[in-house]
Order: sequence, then structure tokens, then C-alpha cells
Amino acid sequence: MKIDVLTLFPEMFAPLKMSIIGRAENAGLVEINTVNIRDYTLDRHSKCDDVPYGGGAGMVMTPQPIVDCVRAVDPEGKSRRIYMSPRGKILTVDIAKELAGEQNLLFLCGHYEGVDERALEICGFEELSIGDYVLTGGELPAMVTIDALLRFVSGVLGSEDSAMDESFSDGMLEYPQYTRPAVYEGKAVPEVLLSGHHANIERWRREKSREITEKYRPDLIKDDN
Ligand code: SAM
Repeated sequence: MKIDVLTLFPEMFAPLKMSIIGRAENAGLVEINTVNIRDYTLDRHSKCDDVPYGGGAGMVMTPQPIVDCVRAVDPEGKSRRIYMSPRGKILTVDIAKELAGEQNLLFLCGHYEGVDERALEICGFEELSIGDYVLTGGELPAMVTIDALLRFVSGVLGSEDSAMDESFSDGMLEYPQYTRPAVYEGKAVPEVLLSGHHANIERWRREKSREITEKYRPDLIKDDN
């Protein structure tokens, strides 16, 4: 899988070089290519933003560097093009799974007041949000999306089952997890988890999962869960 990320701040993507995503990249499971939009500006002062028509606070990213950058990075239009935007569809586990099935993804990160609408129309971007709040730029939302989708790319997580076993994958939140020691500050791990009885452990986990979902996210409970 190849992921291009268009941004004015490529250095913000350092976290993707670490831990599980960094290892996936080193193993050749994904190539993440950050591209500086500023390298494509034709402005002689390297400007990539300007004041909004109609007035108002802040600056808007100009269309020319974005459109030229997209055309240089994806000349044949092979990539699914996604603009990270508070007005987009909200990222869910189903969208993450769907994106994991793509060969080529291109993310555009806005900054300041956002992006000139014409760049979005000309390049055919779909829009994706990470929630109903506004961040200062699209870099963190792009990283959140990339991390969430790569968990569903085969080989990225140690065990194929891990991503399927997490909160939201079956419409429920996860059961509580414990590790050694068996007793910590007088609090013991639930006995069933030490029993080695797989069917009982499975039943306990399902019950806890339901209890926790009812407590924290009753909206997730469907009749078939
Ligand atoms: N003026 C825009 C508005 O009111 O909708 C907000 C612009 S925001 C300050 C700058 C950039 O951050 C956006 O262009 C977008 O790329 C990104 N961004 C901010 N919040 C986001 C969110 N919840 N999801 C995805 N991207 C977001």
C-alpha cells in the first residue's frame, strides 16, 4: 500500500516512523510519502495562503500549490483522495477497514482557515473528519486515520486476530485486560482468567464486554449483541 500525505508541515509526521507503524513501513507493508505542498508554489515568496475573499479572520490555503502537488504526486489519478476536514464523514472502524483495502491513498492536510474550495473540486477530494471539534491542522487527523486503517492491513499487527478483537470491531467495547502480577496492591485478577478454562474465559469476556458497553456506550448496543 502506498500513502501520500500532502502537508505544509511534513516534519509533524515523525510519530509514524515509530512503533508498530514504523515497523510496518520498514517491513515494506506500507510506504508513507510525506510531500511538502510549499515545494509546488509558484509564488516568488513561497506563499501558500492568502486572505479570504469576503473578509473574515485567518488565511486560506491557495489552490495552485495544492492542485500542482496533487497532479505531480498522482498524475494518473490512481489514488483515493481524502481531504481531512471537520465537515467530512466521521471516521469509524468500518471506514478504516474500507480504506485498508485501497492500494493508493492520498491525504490532504489543511491548515489555517482551510483550503480554497476550488482545489477540492478540481482534484475530486472526498472529505473525512475525526470528530465534531476543530483542530489547527489536518496533520493529526491524517495520522489518526492512517494509524486506524493500517491496523487492518495484513501483517501490520503481530496477530491477524488483534484488530478484530478490539473495541468497536464487533460493535462492543472491549472487556478489561490484566497482566502479571496476579495480585497488585491487594487487588486480585479475576479468578476465571487464571483458570485456563477457555470457554469460561470467553463467556466472562463477553459478559464484561456487554456490561462495559452498557455503562459507557449504551448507544452501541444492538439487539443481536
Ligand atoms: N475553518 C474550518 C471550519 O470551520 O470548518 C476549520 C479549519 S481548521 C482550523 C484547519 C484544518 O484542520 C482543516 O482544513 C482540516 O484539514 C483540519 N481539521 C480540523 N479539524 C478537523 C477534524 N475534526 N477532522 C479532520 N480534519 C480537521
